[in-house]
Order: sequence, then structure tokens, then C-alpha cells
Amino acid sequence: MINRNIVNNNKSYENNINDINNNISNSNNSNNNIKKEKEKELLKKVRQYSILNLEIKKLMSELNIDENILNAYINVSNALMEPNKLLYKKLYCSGIEIYYGEYKDIRKNIKWFPKINYDNCNNCYKCIDFCPKGVYDIEYINKSKKVIVKYPFNCIINCNACSYICCENNAIIFPENKISKIEYKKEKR
Ligand code: SF4
Ligand code: SF4
Repeated sequence: MINRNIVNNNKSYENNINDINNNISNSNNSNNNIKKEKEKELLKKVRQYSILNLEIKKLMSELNIDENILNAYINVSNALMEPNKLLYKKLYCSGIEIYYGEYKDIRKNIKWFPKINYDNCNNCYKCIDFCPKGVYDIEYINKSKKVIVKYPFNCIINCNACSYICCENNAIIFPENKISKIEYKKEKR
């Protein structure tokens, strides 16, 4: 009897230790998960920031915008760590014709653009907000709204950045293989 009690006490001691260990491990896991989520969010922001800024800088130099303005923009956006979407949109409207100037006649032969798998899309509109090329838009059907790929050929060739900001269900799909330079040159001739 005494022995059984000792065994039982030992068991409950072991159970307690196991519970504590489990709690610690669960709490570590949940801390790790929160950390991972935060890192993921940060990476998304950095990616968005970098892409928009690259596009803005590209457009500014294509438009021969005064170097001082370009430098001021770079300094401000670096300090804020925030791309200026309004400025981007204004510049994009001025630069739209020149951006794909070098291959605008053949852009429509290059099949690089996103497709949406509507089974996985939750209509969060993040892609509309994110894409620096205005590829996505909202379509209104009766009283419902849905995100569509409205201007597929505005998509930057070999960019697939929006698929990273899309929901976890991978609703945005791109071709499996990137467009190679050799293929691009062939198409250019
Ligand atoms: S991949 Fe195309 S649609 Fe997506 S963000 Fe880049 S340019 Fe926009
Ligand atoms: S980001 Fe993805 S889930 Fe959200 S609207 Fe666009 S395609 Fe749909």
C-alpha cells in the first residue's frame, strides 16, 4: 500500500514535471510562432517597400527627373521605410508608355502574368494594394465584388512578388518557369 502510494506520488510528480515541461514548450512554441509571424510580416513589408522603391527610382530615371529630387525622395523614403504609393502612381501614369518601350510590340506574346485561383481567394484586396503596376482591379458583378487580373500585360516580366503577399492559400499563380533572357531575345527578333 505504502509502496503503491510512493509509486502514485512519483507518477503524479512525473506528471507535474511533464505538465510543466509541456507548458514551457508550448509557451516557447507560441513565442516562436509569434516571432515567425512577425518576421514574415516584416519580410513582406521590406519586399513591398523595395519593389515599389525600385520601380519609383526606375521611373524617375527614365523620366529624367532632376537628380536632386530623386536623391531627396530616396532620403525621405529611406528614413520613413515607407514607399510613397501616391508618388509612384503619379509617376507611373507619366511613364507607362516608356516603361515597356523597348519591347512594347511583343509584350503581349510574353505569357508572364498572374492568375487567380478563386477557390482560394478570400477577396482581401492585398494584391490590388500591393502591385506597383496596377495589374489587379475590382470587378463589380451585381452586388458582389471580385478581384480580377485586369491588365495582365502590365505585369513586370518575371516578377511574382504579389504571390508572397497573398493569403496563405496561394491564390495567385504564376507560370512555373521564368522567362529566360534567351527566350526573350528570340521573341524580340
Ligand atoms: S508580379 Fe506582376 S502583378 Fe504581381 S506585383 Fe509584380 S508586377 Fe504586380
Ligand atoms: S491577395 Fe490573394 S486572396 Fe487577396 S484578393 Fe488578391 S488574390 Fe485574393
